[in-house]
Amino acid sequence: MPELPEVESLRRYLVRNGIVGKTFVKVELENKPESAHGTGTIAGSKQAINQTISSIERRGKQLAMVLDDSVLGFHMGMTGQVHVLDPGEPSPRFTRAQFDLTDDHDSLRIALVDPRRWARIQHFGSLDHAFAGLGPDALDSAFTASHFVELLEGRTAQIKPLLLNQTVVAGIGNIYADESLHRVEISPARRVSDISKAELEKLFEAIRTSLEHALEYILSHPDDRGRPYIVDAYDDRMQLHRKPGSFCPRCEIPLVTLKFGGRTAYFCSNCQT
Ligand SMILES: [Zn+2]
Repeated sequence: MPELPEVESLRRYLVRNGIVGKTFVKVELENKPESAHGTGTIAGSKQAINQTISSIERRGKQLAMVLDDSVLGFHMGMTGQVHVLDPGEPSPRFTRAQFDLTDDHDSLRIALVDPRRWARIQHFGSLDHAFAGLGPDALDSAFTASHFVELLEGRTAQIKPLLLNQTVVAGIGNIYADESLHRVEISPARRVSDISKAELEKLFEAIRTSLEHALEYILSHPDDRGRPYIVDAYDDRMQLHRKPGSFCPRCEIPLVTLKFGGRTAYFCSNCQT
């Protein structure tokens, strides 16, 4: 699933390819019915016609193109990617939507490519609506350790599910929560009320380090078309190898797993208490 670092690298890729300042002139959607699950709607794309993109924003795992008087929100679902196509290039396999954009100088064609069809494109009246319900972005420079401590202090929930709660902090995915907790030797099952303020401050720094390290890795490993690298849970971005039989990189005992609300945590029962 594209997480914060993947979505941020996608945002930068689109900016680098000159999408800001261009106007939507054509929107083509696939003919297939909407996802059987009902979550993969892309119908909002049509509202972007004749609108110009003034910026691309991100909060957590969500992307938003700010238009003249509205916002086009993108949630990449499980497998969503946006490709900038070369002139005349046929639609890639699994294309769900294709957009032609132009400005005074040149034109651009982009495609939403999404094999699993869970990605969503929705039209909103404002950026606040597009990002409604999301906590502060985990990599926002205005979001500080003391603000993070304030958000968590007084809570009694276990730390792992709280980190995954996007209404508290936006952008900490399952893998990055595990990486961060391992860095500061806190068990995913520990209750927030049993974690000191100093430990929470360290955890905040570990979250930043894990996400920034992953972003750097993705930016320095584009595919052969210069597109953002897409997530593979077992690469060098990770300190913890998320597969059965893997070991703690610090004390080298086997990692253990625990499920929180259907999400599997990998952690070291020796280092992390
Ligand atoms: Zn260990």
